[in-house]
Amino acid sequence: MTFDLSAIVRDNIKNLTAYSSARKEFNGTNAVFLDANENSFGSPIETDYSRYPDPLQLEIKRIIADWNGVLPQQIFIGNGSDEAIDLLIRAFCEPKIDQIIITPPTYGMYEVSANINDVNVKSVLLDEDFQLSPDKVLENVGDSTKIIFLCSPNNPTGNSLQRNSILKVIENFKGIVVIDEAYIHFSDKHSFINDLQHFQNLVVMQTFSKAWGLAGLRVGIAFASVEIIELLNKIKPPYNVSQIAQEALLKALKNRESVKKVVSEIVEQRNLLRSNLLELPIVSDVYPSDANFLLVKTIAANRIYSFLVDEKIIVRNRSNVELCENCLRITVGTESENQSLITALKAFR
Ligand SMILES: *Cc1c(COP(=O)(O)O)cnc(C)c1O
Repeated sequence: MTFDLSAIVRDNIKNLTAYSSARKEFNGTNAVFLDANENSFGSPIETDYSRYPDPLQLEIKRIIADWNGVLPQQIFIGNGSDEAIDLLIRAFCEPKIDQIIITPPTYGMYEVSANINDVNVKSVLLDEDFQLSPDKVLENVGDSTKIIFLCSPNNPTGNSLQRNSILKVIENFKGIVVIDEAYIHFSDKHSFINDLQHFQNLVVMQTFSKAWGLAGLRVGIAFASVEIIELLNKIKPPYNVSQIAQEALLKALKNRESVKKVVSEIVEQRNLLRSNLLELPIVSDVYPSDANFLLVKTIAANRIYSFLVDEKIIVRNRSNVELCENCLRITVGTESENQSLITALKAFR
């Protein structure tokens, strides 16, 4: 199916004159900077944060681009992935008129972000195995459908969606398909970043909040065509990633090997925790997971949840979510945290 980006961008965004920040108009070094109304006397703390950060985070993008075989201009960096979700909806969806499709049970922010922007949400449930039915999704596409959000590995179910099903949706939809790969590092599946060269309508999101252990920094990434990324850059707040976040991230990027080690330890703990949970009589199923959490079907989710809270162990109660009845979502912790959980659950009556 032919994809025409300009046909799906909102008119106000297409016609927008973007804010031009001081640091965008001149970004050289070794000058007397009297252009941005910063405070040349410095900050009242040890580290100097008196200057605005790089609006396009180029140093970071060059490294990530190199790792992923894309151009720096194919990368958007946001204040968490949540910012990318919001900007995508604002770029493409006309309030009250346009629609996104989501495939529950899935990450809640797609729907919340659409609601905030007064954009309609069409839900197409995953099947019993938490797999995507591409035909069902495509049947629900209408003229006003602008974005389809897919999450793989999926939150809260933990499984990866089948590659062929995702491809079918991408190939047969003339709007944007977003694949949220927040948990891809815990999986042995290939990222869809490798498919960007073939699909102009594809956006792949990743984050530093999970495998990279940097949730507090608030840094998320979107990979897409140069044209889509230009659009996001045009509408983002000018200095959306703080100097502290950029500096800390640049340091973290030097420790890629230690992240790989931690990820493999988490995967090992996940598999151990899964088999320990499956032995408990109060657990009726633990769904296969490609992520750093397990969706656990129990005999009495609400009671077990409250019991664990009393034991000062907090998990996520997902039992009100369609297809997740009696389910708890449990993040894989350290070996001793997981052991505490199992010990507590053995005492549940
Ligand atoms: C945790 C998570 C994110 C990450 O969001 P950030 O804003 O980058 O912290 C994105 N998508 C899904 C599905 C998640 O579970």
